Amino acid sequence: MTSPYRPFDVRLVARERLSASFMRITLRGGDLARCSPTLLDQRVKLVLGESRLLDPLRGDDWYSVWQAAAERPAIRTYTLTAVRAAAGEVDVDVVLHGRPGAGAGPASTFAQSAAVGERLLLVAADRSRAGHEEVGVAFRPGGAERVVLVGDETALPAVANILADRRPGVRYEAVLEVPERDDVRALAADRLTWRVRSRGESVLDVAPFAHAAAGDAAPGDGALLWDEAEDVSGGSYLWAAGEAGLVRAVRAAAKRTGVDRGAASFMGYWRRGAVSA
Ligand SMILES: Cc1cc2nc3c(=O)[nH]c(=O)nc-3n(C[C@H](O)[C@H](O)[C@H](O)COP(=O)(O)OP(=O)(O)OC[C@H]3O[C@@H](n4cnc5c(N)ncnc54)[C@H](O)[C@@H]3O)c2cc1C
Repeated sequence: MTSPYRPFDVRLVARERLSASFMRITLRGGDLARCSPTLLDQRVKLVLGESRLLDPLRGDDWYSVWQAAAERPAIRTYTLTAVRAAAGEVDVDVVLHGRPGAGAGPASTFAQSAAVGERLLLVAADRSRAGHEEVGVAFRPGGAERVVLVGDETALPAVANILADRRPGVRYEAVLEVPERDDVRALAADRLTWRVRSRGESVLDVAPFAHAAAGDAAPGDGALLWDEAEDVSGGSYLWAAGEAGLVRAVRAAAKRTGVDRGAASFMGYWRRGAVSA
């Protein structure tokens, strides 16, 4: 079966500084009208590099071609925050970390300093292909009556999408950790708790996650934590995403407080000190 995912050939057409830590980049491409409008936490890939390295990756076999290439462009995972089919545009909210040439990875560098007009590939689900609404979506609350969203700034685009698409009759709670006060934004949740890292605050101050023990937030064994709930039939559903050590600590606290593991998803979105692949 053909994967719903495929590369879209796009260009950077605008950037907007949303807050201290976020740059919204707008990408445009001829056939982005076919990009799936699913949003939620559906993951997409940005493929960043010189045009000559992008050219061979425009087909459905892009990933195997990339794997076999002697020189590979960077691939990073993101969440779309808007799909404007008629305009052939999408938005991505990129967390800025480090400065270009001084700690920033390829994606953070691109968001901060790529020239408007610069080309990249966006690997996203194609709305004309079967399965485009489900592929790459970890948020699966099933029949839950209460949804608890926990995350850091990299999970904020997904959380904002999920809260913008609330189901009637379900209670939504979110606990979010961001670098700066300025990153706090309006979100529609039944209960919303912000923690600001520059004030020394953390998600791990907030009950029930405050039960994390020393060591829970330590880096794991190298694998990025990825543990999705399978079939939630009622009650509460916990969705946690962000820095892997933080998510690991949230998972440990959830386990200690008796959260049903089958009704919880834990996703390491990045790892401190490790380059994403
Ligand atoms: C499903 C999924 C969805 C995601 N959605 C988003 C999204 O919408 N917006 C978003 O900004 N990120 C998102 N991320 C996280 C993003 O993929 C990583 O932060 C990625 O590592 C950034 O790539 P880079 O090229 O900037 O840095 P890399 O080259 O991967 O890393 C360079 C260095 O920077 C550090 N680093 C990476 N990210 C951060 C960070 N956020 N803060 C501080 N240091 C960091 C690394 O530990 C490493 O030391 C998502 C990840 C996943 C798996």
